[in-house]
Amino acid sequence: MANFQTHITVGVLTSGVISTIAMAAAVVTPNDAMFLTIAGTMGSIMPDIDLESSRQSRAVFGGFGIFFAFIALFHYSQFLSIAELCILWLSIYISVRYLLWRLFNEFTVHRGIFHSFLANIFFSVAGVAIFYNLLEKSDTVAWMGGGVIFIGALTHLILDELYSIDFAGNRVKRSFGTALKLFDYKNPFSAFAMIVAVAAMLYVSPTAGNFYTLINSSENWSYLHSRLLPKGKWFDVGELRLNMARSGEMDPLTTGSVD
Ligand SMILES: [Zn+2]
Repeated sequence: MANFQTHITVGVLTSGVISTIAMAAAVVTPNDAMFLTIAGTMGSIMPDIDLESSRQSRAVFGGFGIFFAFIALFHYSQFLSIAELCILWLSIYISVRYLLWRLFNEFTVHRGIFHSFLANIFFSVAGVAIFYNLLEKSDTVAWMGGGVIFIGALTHLILDELYSIDFAGNRVKRSFGTALKLFDYKNPFSAFAMIVAVAAMLYVSPTAGNFYTLINSSENWSYLHSRLLPKGKWFDVGELRLNMARSGEMDPLTTGSVD
C-alpha cells in the first residue's frame, strides 16, 4: 500500500486541480475552492482511518477535532466568555481526536469496510451533509464537496492497489485485490450497516438536482474549454487586463484584483 506522503500529495494535487477548474468556471468562489481542496485531501486519507497506528487515522481525527471545535465556536462565540470558549474548543478537540479515535479503532478492523468503494460513497454523502448543514454552503457546492471527497478516496484505493504491483519484478504482491473492493466480503453485515449510514446521510443532505444540471450544462463545459489555454502569451496578466478593459468587462483604471 502507498504511504501517507504519497496519499496526501496525490490528494492535494487532484483536489487542487478540480477546485481550480471549478473556480475558473465561476462555479465556486475562491473561498469555496479552498474548502473543496481541503475536503478532497481529507477524502484521500479517509480509507485508512481504521489503521490505528497510522498517521492517516490520527490526521483525520485531528482534522475533524479542529473542524468541529471551530463549528461550535462560531455558533457560541456571541454567548460565551473567552474562558468558556477556550474550554469548549479544547474539550471538543480532545474528545474527537483522542476519545472518539480510541473508540473508533476499538470497533473497526483495518482494511475492513472503511477501505472500500461503499465506504467512499459514505464519506462523500457525509461530506455533502457537513458542507450543507454545518458549513451552510449551497446545495451545489455541497455536492461538489461530496464529489471531490469521492475522487480523493477512490484515488486512495487505486494507489494502494497500484502499490501492490511490483513493476520491477513483474509480479503482484499478495495484497493485490484487497485495496480496491466494493465492500468487506468477509463481513456482509458491515456492508448493510454502511448502506444504512449512507441513507441516513442522504436524508440530511440536499437533493443533487442543481449539481446535476450544472455538470450537464454544455454552456459551462464550452466556457471552461474556452478558458483552458491563454489567448496570448502565458502569464501575461497585463495584456489580459487591457483586453478586459477594452471589452468593458473591467474599468481600465481599476488596480484591484480581477475578481
Ligand atoms: Zn489504504
